Amino acid sequence: MVARKFFVGGNFKMNGSLKEVETIVQRINDAKFDGSAELVVAPPALYLLKIQGELNPPAQVSAQNSYTEKSGAFTGEISPNQLKDANVHWVILGHSERRSLFGDTDKLVADKTKAAVGAGLSVIACIGESLEERESGKTQAVVERQLEAIANEISESDWKNIVIAYEPVWAIGTGKVATKEQAQETHEQIRQWLAKKVSQSTADETRIIYGGSVNGKNCTDLSNAPDIDGFLVGGASLKPEFIDIVNSQK
Ligand code: PGA
Repeated sequence: MVARKFFVGGNFKMNGSLKEVETIVQRINDAKFDGSAELVVAPPALYLLKIQGELNPPAQVSAQNSYTEKSGAFTGEISPNQLKDANVHWVILGHSERRSLFGDTDKLVADKTKAAVGAGLSVIACIGESLEERESGKTQAVVERQLEAIANEISESDWKNIVIAYEPVWAIGTGKVATKEQAQETHEQIRQWLAKKVSQSTADETRIIYGGSVNGKNCTDLSNAPDIDGFLVGGASLKPEFIDIVNSQK
């Protein structure tokens, strides 16, 4: 069995003023961590460099999105090469809010992922089904379609730089967390898919983290599932309970 390092990402989304984000980061700096988790926080892009300078290592910052191109006339976008140049080593791609509100298709997410790993970044690649898709028994088909799009664009060795975030859309920001059994079942299916379509070592080594209404109360139970290797946390990453989530590894 390969030991996968527990991974927790804090996705601040479009929340907080500079002062508020600095307060959150100060709380993270002051916290006691047992050291077993890899910690990455994703403030709004505007605050990335300031927060990067203030966050105590080994915690790192992540962007919440990046584009497919290195540079050029793409108003409003950030390139993975610019992130790399600025020593930002992580980016979240394919978040359901990007997919549903900003038109990020499976193909665009895959192209962005290819560009990001090509620029030397690590990617938190988000996948997940809607409520309708879950209720009609399509969860596995949906996550496999989203993964397949990414796998078509990258090589086996690129998976070393990818953390998969399984985030059921119905659980994001709703307070309706997936049960441990629901999350474990899908995580296991994702791992089996990786073994079949990429390689056994990729399946063994890739962190598959869960996101969607994770909080200080439900994290310990979820983290006990064998295929849940950490969390991507939205709302609760802005609150003191985020520290408990980072420390929740089984
Ligand atoms: P939530 O968001 O924790 O607020 O549900 C999770 C996410 O969007 O990554």
